[in-house]
Amino acid sequence: SPFPIFLAGKVQYGFGRGGKDLGCPTDNDRTTPGRSTANLPDESITPMSSVANTGVYYGYAQVVSPPDAAAAFPPEDLKVLPMVMSLGWNPFYKNEKLTAWKTLTRAQEIHIMHEFKKDFYGYEMRAIVLGYIRPELDYTSREALIDDIEFDKRVALNCLERPEYRKYEQDPYFTGGV
Ligand code: ADP
Ligand code: MG
Repeated sequence: SPFPIFLAGKVQYGFGRGGKDLGCPTDNDRTTPGRSTANLPDESITPMSSVANTGVYYGYAQVVSPPDAAAAFPPEDLKVLPMVMSLGWNPFYKNEKLTAWKTLTRAQEIHIMHEFKKDFYGYEMRAIVLGYIRPELDYTSREALIDDIEFDKRVALNCLERPEYRKYEQDPYFTGGV
């Protein structure tokens, strides 16, 4: 098994239409929780080269706040949290936005299963990828994509119940303990 795979990188801006757009299709309501995806830089994709498949993965992630910025986030936001990660080419959006063709690249986006009070662009994120859920699919509707993300989150949480995965929550790769 290629897992666990250790990832780290500074959270980058995406196309600005990612998870929050999927959270509320009508008006881009940034308060809708649950579907934002934080993008990792290209270098951090390298460890994933050991797995050939694009698609959806699960594991744990942590937003790492520099000590001087510790007050910016409540402690519950800086815990080790369950995540689902998409590794792929974002096929849904390549059809929707012509501009995306020009910037189309292999993307690695992590959705942390936690409601954050605010964004954490520029912060370091660490993640341990523990398993594969499904291949990348081409969606014809936004609703179908949203449904599948919800299903992925349930699958991930079920998998992480197992002690052999659960132990990674305590892994020294993450900072501060839990
Ligand atoms: P982008 O196109 O920049 O990826 P998104 O709408 O997907 O835009 O929002 C991603 C950003 O939302 C992340 O970079 C992060 O700062 C913030 N965010 C808030 N809550 C979460 C969460 N639960 N998981 C991941 N990112 C989150
Ligand atoms: Mg995103």
